[in-house]
Amino acid sequence: MPIWVRDPLAIMAANAERGVVVDGPMVVETVPAGAEPSMPCNVVDASSHVVVPGFVNTHHHFYQTLTRSLAPSLDAEVFPWLKIMYPVWRHLQETDLRLAVRVALAELALTGCTTTSDHHYVFPPGLDDAIEIAIEEAQAIGLRLVLTRGSMDLSEDDGGLPPAAVVQSIDRILADSERLVHAHHNAAPGAMVQIALAPCSPFSVSADLMRESAALARIHGLRLHTHLAAHADEIVYCQDRFGCRPIDYMERLGWLGANVWLAHGIFFSPEETTRLGQAGVSIAHCPSSNMITASGVCPVPALEAAGVAVGLGVDGSSANDSSSMIAEIRQAFMLQRLAHGTRVMAADALRWATAGGAACLGRDDIGSLAPGRQADLAMFRTDGLGFTGVDDALAGLVRSMPARADRVMVAGRWVVEDGMLPGIDVAALTHGHGEAARRLRARAGL
Ligand SMILES: [Zn+2]
Repeated sequence: MPIWVRDPLAIMAANAERGVVVDGPMVVETVPAGAEPSMPCNVVDASSHVVVPGFVNTHHHFYQTLTRSLAPSLDAEVFPWLKIMYPVWRHLQETDLRLAVRVALAELALTGCTTTSDHHYVFPPGLDDAIEIAIEEAQAIGLRLVLTRGSMDLSEDDGGLPPAAVVQSIDRILADSERLVHAHHNAAPGAMVQIALAPCSPFSVSADLMRESAALARIHGLRLHTHLAAHADEIVYCQDRFGCRPIDYMERLGWLGANVWLAHGIFFSPEETTRLGQAGVSIAHCPSSNMITASGVCPVPALEAAGVAVGLGVDGSSANDSSSMIAEIRQAFMLQRLAHGTRVMAADALRWATAGGAACLGRDDIGSLAPGRQADLAMFRTDGLGFTGVDDALAGLVRSMPARADRVMVAGRWVVEDGMLPGIDVAALTHGHGEAARRLRARAGL
């Protein structure tokens, strides 16, 4: 029987004042004011809820939930910070990774996220199945995934930043990427799992690996992702090593295309911004991470004016130490408003988190609530202490920010009900995860 999410207090969808109808994995109908659904339905009362398309997280490193607020890293600049983190991450093991991934996915789901990407780029010996672990965990919770096979091949010995222990050979990276694509990538509309390729950054990846990854992505029709223009040190590194700016370097390597989304994208000149728009590149804006690492402010209004799609990413730890999507939306709204004035509205932040994120991931089946789109939605209660008295409920969702979603649906299936994840014992999970983080620190001698 179809489900009618009926009479929302507010909804982010056109001509849907009386809600939306979901049948199987799809939205089949929006119900305008004064109308009724055209078919018999089970009803979910949304009269105390704000209803939004499920949020899309475009940048994260799930495994890094094990290194939240890592004491030695707290106040370091980005390059020294990475040099503190790599030797810890090299001790990552499967059991602990599984708990890290589960914590990230649980927090994302409980804060309204329905589709998430992940950028896993650390494959120490014994951790060959990191991507499979994420797939298994996401299937258990019910979230939609665009997982990237991350990679690093440029160690300190070759002028890169990471130690030799956490890099792999190009051949091994490409072979494993092909294996994952054949095993898990679904290009069809409504796909629950997609694979993309994500060499980590210009300072941890060789030019050859960047070039080969772009070629492999072209062959298989995959999306490409990396960190770019994320910090002033990276600009200096590219000038010193390649004699050009990051965007020129990436263009040289075949990376300015419509299948590319870049994490951070802070340092672009007006001319570079125009080139990004013309090439169809998208940007994952990660405001909390940018603020905590004191990197700078992504020029979102200028990017959008140039035709660049912008999504939001919670990013990993110890940069942003939270996987809350709703908190990231509020942060994006406030940071962009501070930097660019009151023309930046709460509705913009919600758009980045939904349609913008879908565009980053190359998906036209998610990111909005309309007939024919996937039934991915989040419902937030408006009767809590922090929300009571709100007038404009959609603006209030961003500005007053309820901490948790009450209900979340992915592909027509409820994955959060009454603010809980069915089948997940959160107390046991947090206890196990805390122990895993302690074990990881101990293995790293911390
Ligand atoms: Zn990142």
